Amino acid sequence: MKALPMRGWSIMAMVKTFDIDMDAIIGSLPCPFCGSETMIEGHPFGDSATESFRVTCEQNGHSLDRWDSTKRAAIVAWNKRP
Ligand SMILES: [Zn+2]
Repeated sequence: MKALPMRGWSIMAMVKTFDIDMDAIIGSLPCPFCGSETMIEGHPFGDSATESFRVTCEQNGHSLDRWDSTKRAAIVAWNKRP
């Protein structure tokens, strides 16, 4: 496997790619209650200018009782849940 050529990439392109890769690496654990697949749920609060996120399970809608400002924070919280 050859390394991907990084020269010539813009900073934004690298940041964007890094974020996508980090999401894939972090992932999210299956639902601890029913074992089903999970997904990221987005919800606008207040003036709707910003969205908050949390992980929910697809089968029964189980979720943590909290919202985070980024998808990554929501995934981290889900993976660290008690
Ligand atoms: Zn569930």
